[in-house]
Amino acid sequence: MPIDATLPYDDTNIFARILKGEIPCRKVYEDEYALAFHDIAPQAPVHILVIPRGAYVSWDDFSARAEPAEIAGFVRAVGKVARDQGLVGDGYRLLANVGPAAGQEVAHLHVHIFGGRPLGPMLA
Ligand code: 5GP
Repeated sequence: MPIDATLPYDDTNIFARILKGEIPCRKVYEDEYALAFHDIAPQAPVHILVIPRGAYVSWDDFSARAEPAEIAGFVRAVGKVARDQGLVGDGYRLLANVGPAAGQEVAHLHVHIFGGRPLGPMLA
């Protein structure tokens, strides 16, 4: 069910619980700023979610409140995961859904990395 990205952060969301180790994930990368793991319902041969360690509801929240070091660390982590997965040559897609109109379902910022097949034109 899509969430309201303007609501305060709720640390019982599923990705908060993954960060706390309460729920397992198929981890591909972690550092002090980010955790990356396979999406549970992949929509491409490679479908990875990258989340910041900090408590941010959405890209809107993160871009407004995060410290510059957190933003830089998160952006570097997304790029590193895509490189490490071998996606740069053929290309890949990044996606961050924000709020109900975009269908954001989990109230902790996540960037999707899609790759491993031709992805076709962007659908709006
Ligand atoms: P959104 O629509 O919020 O941008 O994307 C949420 C994504 O999280 C979906 O692609 C969904 O498959 C994924 N997801 C939901 N619950 C879990 C979970 O418990 N584990 C993992 N690895 N992915 C999840």
